[in-house]
Amino acid sequence: MGLIRIVIILALAYLGWQLIKATLTRTGYLRGPDRSANTQSGEKMLPCARCGVHVPSSEAFQYRNLAFCCQAHQQAYLDDPGE
Ligand SMILES: [Zn+2]
Repeated sequence: MGLIRIVIILALAYLGWQLIKATLTRTGYLRGPDRSANTQSGEKMLPCARCGVHVPSSEAFQYRNLAFCCQAHQQAYLDDPGE
């Protein structure tokens, strides 16, 4: 009888641990920081005035109130802003 009780307790403990692990994984606790979420949070995305691609404000080339995805697009816009 004692052995059966130990087996049942071990089985319940195992199931309990699986449940806790599944809950932690689902809430993201065991996955670590999410890189895509980090870039989305905090940093402002700016659209390129030339091609419309959105770039993080720290990587954008800014001129007055405009933003550009690269220096070439900034130069192209300055050369021909009417396009
Ligand atoms: Zn661009």
